[in-house]
Amino acid sequence: MKAALLKGVRNIEVTDIDVPEPKPDEILIKILYSLTCGTDLKAYERGHPYIKYPVVLGHEYVGEIVKKGRDVKNFEIGEIVTGANSAPCFNCFYCNKAQYNLCENIEDVLIGFKLNGCFSEYMIVPGRIVKVNLFKVEEKDFKKYAMLEPLACVIHAVNILHIQENENVLIIGSGPMGILLSQVCKNITNQVFLLGKHMARIKIAERLGIKTINIEENYEEEVKRITSDYGFDVVIEAVGTLDAWNLAFKLVRKGGKLMYFGGLKRGLEINLDAYKIHYGEIKIFGSFHHDPNSVKEAYNIIKQNKIQIQSLITEEMKLPDIEKALLSMAEGKNMKVGIVMD
Ligand SMILES: [Zn+2]
Ligand SMILES: [Zn+2]
Repeated sequence: MKAALLKGVRNIEVTDIDVPEPKPDEILIKILYSLTCGTDLKAYERGHPYIKYPVVLGHEYVGEIVKKGRDVKNFEIGEIVTGANSAPCFNCFYCNKAQYNLCENIEDVLIGFKLNGCFSEYMIVPGRIVKVNLFKVEEKDFKKYAMLEPLACVIHAVNILHIQENENVLIIGSGPMGILLSQVCKNITNQVFLLGKHMARIKIAERLGIKTINIEENYEEEVKRITSDYGFDVVIEAVGTLDAWNLAFKLVRKGGKLMYFGGLKRGLEINLDAYKIHYGEIKIFGSFHHDPNSVKEAYNIIKQNKIQIQSLITEEMKLPDIEKALLSMAEGKNMKVGIVMD
């Protein structure tokens, strides 16, 4: 079968590998559709601590079950499914505290990093994912379900914040995650603002009914006007740069909630004004990955068409063009590329 094998930094090759055999608790799916992700691009450009070379890249997928292990009872051959890229072990220190996203053994079943991923004709869904993070797709319009994993990460973060309908929310970053976050928050409150700088992406957000602020157009005045100079009730940083982290801290109001959604490099230290945190009672949160509840919630949101997914998939390409797809994201030309199979 054809598969996009990542062999090292900036070394990806579409090549022939054997179709894998599912173990008793596993499922083999024929990939129907997949999406590129910012994490794929990062892995391609810089590598990733979880990657085990060579590995088939890709972890956002929809596929048809073509084979299953003898212990798999809840799925049948011929069914179309979508799933997350991992699942907790339910057995470690964090799982025992129900903090499933922090599972110590998450890497063991991490699709597209440690296990072969979905930029491939076929893919194994590991037993742990089959058990809790795999869902049947019943509609003909299955492409939108490939957004399950990123949306689950977004839901996990938004759930931490307990946003109220009378709160205003600022999302910093107009990438796919920023736009997904905006859409999910908009289902809670009307007062959602997206701060970004890429005009094309700001336009996409506006078409989705999200209020936008252009960072290159006197945004400070705009923030002052919107918040009567208090700052936002909730600020979500979704860029993953030091500048954006600092800006997020600056724009949250006293008594407000701040979510650091975009990750920074390990070891990087940040300087925050202790006075504002203590006397201003700022609640600061981090968010990582997803948990089975947020995956399930994401599945239901997609199923009920509660958010618009199509506008984030800015182009479709075929598997042999995977490197081109990743580079088009690096250039800022595409947000997410849909990979269609022959
Ligand atoms: Zn992803
Ligand atoms: Zn665990």
